[in-house]
Amino acid sequence: MSRVMIIGAGGVGGVVAHKCAQMSEVFSEIVLASRTESKCKAIAAQLSRPIRTAQVDANNVHALITLLQKEKSELVINVALPYQDLTIMDACLEAGVHYLDTANYEPIDTAKFEYRWQWDYQQRFMDAGLTALLGSGFDPGATNVFTAYIAKHYFDEIYELDIIDVNGGDHGHPFATNFNPEINIREVSAECRHWENGQFVTTNAMSKKARYTCPDDVGTFNIYRMYHEELESLSKHFPSLKRAQFWMSFSDSYLRHLQVLENVGMTSIAPVEYQGQSIVPIQFLAHLLPEPSTLGPHTKGKTCIGCIVRGLKEGKEKVIYIYNISDHQACYEEVQSQAVSYTTGVPAVIGAKLMLEGTWRKPGVWNIEQCDPDPFMEDMNHYGLPWKVVELDPNFQLDIVES
Ligand code: NDP
Repeated sequence: MSRVMIIGAGGVGGVVAHKCAQMSEVFSEIVLASRTESKCKAIAAQLSRPIRTAQVDANNVHALITLLQKEKSELVINVALPYQDLTIMDACLEAGVHYLDTANYEPIDTAKFEYRWQWDYQQRFMDAGLTALLGSGFDPGATNVFTAYIAKHYFDEIYELDIIDVNGGDHGHPFATNFNPEINIREVSAECRHWENGQFVTTNAMSKKARYTCPDDVGTFNIYRMYHEELESLSKHFPSLKRAQFWMSFSDSYLRHLQVLENVGMTSIAPVEYQGQSIVPIQFLAHLLPEPSTLGPHTKGKTCIGCIVRGLKEGKEKVIYIYNISDHQACYEEVQSQAVSYTTGVPAVIGAKLMLEGTWRKPGVWNIEQCDPDPFMEDMNHYGLPWKVVELDPNFQLDIVES
């Protein structure tokens, strides 16, 4: 029995609230707090049991501490924006509350997300006897756990990792993003970095492209190599990795729109003066685009996210593929959200469950792959994200079409 506070009432926050409400044996008291309380109330009205809601600006440490103390929360599930990670961690330390998130800290005025800011909290969380679990979404999140699980059960040593994130869904808009538009566009337009022989190698954004056929009739898609935050923690925690790459699918229409928006300066994070007012173009663009939480009713198709891992077992080279497939409409039927929010929210709830049960509780700041993967993998099957493992031909290579 435990008291949880969810911060952020967007696409992912809605899924987390639904799932926590379904699991009353774990989450006895739920508070959903966000910048706009009416959005918390709208989500609360969809749920099968009552939860409390609150207004909070998560940039304000003092306001957060007051709310956490008033609600006697034991754990925060942070599904607001990466900009708020550090203020929420500060408040958790002060109020004596465990912490979990799905995206690493990124300063609002520099498009550079990396773990060092949050890793710097290690000693403070240890001294406070509190646990901070970083990156408990799908990618990062389930993909890190997949890697740890495959390394533990299938190999003596792993040395190549390809994380492949395919969204084969269609939301019916000419241009929209399935998670927060500002964070999505900052991530996608950043230069690419991948891990190669002990260091990160930088290449132009979207310059390497492959054709990828997903299993189970999901379809064939163009996937592009890009930087993603789990590469930083996985290359650190699995030092035998010689190469680690992240790939994501994008439609031609998405990339065309993005290129035009970039060319006209709409994706810039630098403020501009407009009619006596300072505005940040990417924030204005995000304001015009559909909110991820509104895409659910019309999104059709499936996601397929997984890891291809190459390594050695008893001296023989093997290639293993582990993946989950989720159906946008099935997710909507269950929790009124599309599959990108669903596949992020469910791992957050599983991570929170394991922390509250004590299975994954140890003082300090941990990336999710540093925890035992087995209970998380078991819970994925149980709570809506079933996965499959298949052995590929040892000669398997991605079908690179542009590099
Ligand atoms: P949304 O934009 O739909 O929701 C973000 C929510 O955070 C909104 O309710 C917003 O409030 C709230 N918020 C923003 N600023 C503040 C603040 N200062 N104080 C309180 N609340 C605030 O985004 P998503 O739900 O799509 O994404 C949520 C998080 O999940 C992001 O950090 C994203 O990067 C991460 N994510 C992780 C993935 C993974 O697999 N690891 C995949 C997808 C997303 P308001 O409604 O007022 O704007």
